[in-house]
Amino acid sequence: MAMVITVAIAVATELAIVGAGPAGMAAAEVAAGHGVEVTLVDEQAVPGGQFLRQPPPQFGVSDWLGDPVYREGRRLLERVSADRRLEWIMRSSVAGIFSNGDDDGDEPFTLVLNPVGEGDSGEGGAPRQLSARRVLIASGCFDLPVAFPGWTLPGVMAAGGIQAFVKSQQLVPGKRFLFAGSHPLQLVVADQIVQAGGSVAGVLFAQSSSRALALLKHPSVLLGNADKLSQTAGILWRLRRAGVPVRFRQTVLSANGTDSLESVTTVPVGPDGAIDSDAAEEIECDRLGVCFAFSTSSELARQAGVDCRWDASRGGWIAKHDDNMASSVPGVFVAGETTGVAGSDIAALEGQVAAIGCAAELGKIDARQAVELARLPRRQLSRRARFARLLSELAWPGASLFDQLMSDSATLCKCEGLTVGMLRTQLGRHPDIRTASAAKLLSRAGMGLCQGRYCHFALTRLMARQLGVPEERVGGFTSRFPAKPVSIGRLIGDDS
Ligand SMILES: Cc1cc2nc3c(=O)[nH]c(=O)nc-3n(C[C@H](O)[C@H](O)[C@H](O)COP(=O)(O)OP(=O)(O)OC[C@H]3O[C@@H](n4cnc5c(N)ncnc54)[C@H](O)[C@@H]3O)c2cc1C
Repeated sequence: MAMVITVAIAVATELAIVGAGPAGMAAAEVAAGHGVEVTLVDEQAVPGGQFLRQPPPQFGVSDWLGDPVYREGRRLLERVSADRRLEWIMRSSVAGIFSNGDDDGDEPFTLVLNPVGEGDSGEGGAPRQLSARRVLIASGCFDLPVAFPGWTLPGVMAAGGIQAFVKSQQLVPGKRFLFAGSHPLQLVVADQIVQAGGSVAGVLFAQSSSRALALLKHPSVLLGNADKLSQTAGILWRLRRAGVPVRFRQTVLSANGTDSLESVTTVPVGPDGAIDSDAAEEIECDRLGVCFAFSTSSELARQAGVDCRWDASRGGWIAKHDDNMASSVPGVFVAGETTGVAGSDIAALEGQVAAIGCAAELGKIDARQAVELARLPRRQLSRRARFARLLSELAWPGASLFDQLMSDSATLCKCEGLTVGMLRTQLGRHPDIRTASAAKLLSRAGMGLCQGRYCHFALTRLMARQLGVPEERVGGFTSRFPAKPVSIGRLIGDDS
């Protein structure tokens, strides 16, 4: 029987922007400034993205994100929130982007929006449809889930998840925190916990301090990014004053506890990257913030047919684009972390460049104006991008660390209850299984509600190592509609 997708409301716009983080907001502001009719769609209740997670207005927080590093972003948020030219569709997940096959038509794209409400079944009813002449995908990234024994224990969280509680709920979600990873964001979050009155047992970096300090060998790059350096120096000073140890060449081996996290076993990482299990140490804590890297939210871009390439240190599958941020699909633009994790400044600059490209394609400005307008953001992008590339290389601990942490008892796919050992055995029995999508059919890894967001990296690493091929050859899970979970009942208009 053919399934009929029920659509509650159909609306049309010139430019649909998916994601109201720094990239989407900056794009909206610039595009609207050139007379483009813009609709922003985001699954969150309020704009801001990961960088500017807002508390509910009822909280009346007066000093929200007071650190100077958030100043520009907060100003952008204030401007776009007050901008009457923009249309907003919040609390709506974009589950699919479809080309109508008529590039010259009035609205060549259809976006299927699934309302995400507060109750179990959501509050918005059936999916909506949004038609658009151009689409910008600025769907951001999420913390890279890393598989090690105990990572699914209550109390083990992504450092970014811990930060979300502090930023948007104004609470310290634990008593004693330990951070382990390789990305500098863990310093930011540890500092925010200390400033909010929490206790931090330590911040562990898997890499050596000399590797972290390798940034100093690039004075020209540093000079153009002095704000980032002074932010880090301030954080290190405050952590030192609070007595928080920052240790290098140390990492997590396992998270331990009966019903929830009670302690973390840590181990030294040798100069060759090998972990030394014989020198394990136990640290008591009830929250572990894991912070190795980020994973791009590229599922929607891939569902829309956008060409992506694998770059592990920049977020896994990252969307390819040209100088105007146009993707391989004509009419679809990409910006922000979807194109490779690089931070909020770069996300916003990419959003501006994409908006100029869209405005030109929509005939609001001519080609010469577009080149002129994009000159400044492009120059700023190249200055910031060198620093971001360097930072992601230095922050990446190397795939072999993840391979060592993934011992057989570690959960690989928590939705389907599959361990690393179970998948290793299945792959050993079926040497013909050589892609992530085939392994998904074999093992059910990636078939649960998270749609593979939690297990994809671990499965890719495990297969790449077992087969002796690069991750790119293992491929991603095929991304199909719906790119975000939506109930069948909702799709066919029966949500009872
Ligand atoms: C948890 C976390 C915390 C971070 N904290 C910091 C920090 O403190 N400082 C810092 O410099 N960097 C931080 N980063 C890095 C951060 O991602 C960037 O600095 C910045 O937020 C990127 O902007 P963006 O617009 O590309 O993406 P985001 O800010 O991530 O915005 C993407 C938006 O897209 C929406 N979205 C995604 N998919 C869909 C869909 N299918 N349908 C509808 N909406 C969708 C999301 O809800 C989100 O609002 C953090 C990253 C993470 C993951």
